[in-house]
Amino acid sequence: MSASNHNWVCFLCRTSARRPKTIETTPKCLSCGANCYCLGYKVSIPKKDDVKAWNAIRDSSRARDFAYLDIRQRQSTRLKHDLEKEIARMELMETNKDRTRQIKKLKEELARIE
Ligand SMILES: [Zn+2]
Repeated sequence: MSASNHNWVCFLCRTSARRPKTIETTPKCLSCGANCYCLGYKVSIPKKDDVKAWNAIRDSSRARDFAYLDIRQRQSTRLKHDLEKEIARMELMETNKDRTRQIKKLKEELARIE
């Protein structure tokens, strides 16, 4: 199995297709038209009628996605707090041109964080 192709699946229809991992658009399910989910190349695809195995993969994929989102959220919250603290610290210092520019830069960085 080539690692350059990934398995894209539809959990609802229990179908799969192999597409390059660098694909620009999410493949659509040929049966229902929904966006497919990328399982990568390591997970073996169960047979279509093995509902239990499909549900297990779906559930573990969801759990992994939620864990990833949780980590991302924590990281961005931490970064946001660090930037806010640094801005507050710098704003208490004597004003000068460089510091004003740095504060502006930090505030712009802060605004970019989701
Ligand atoms: Zn489908």
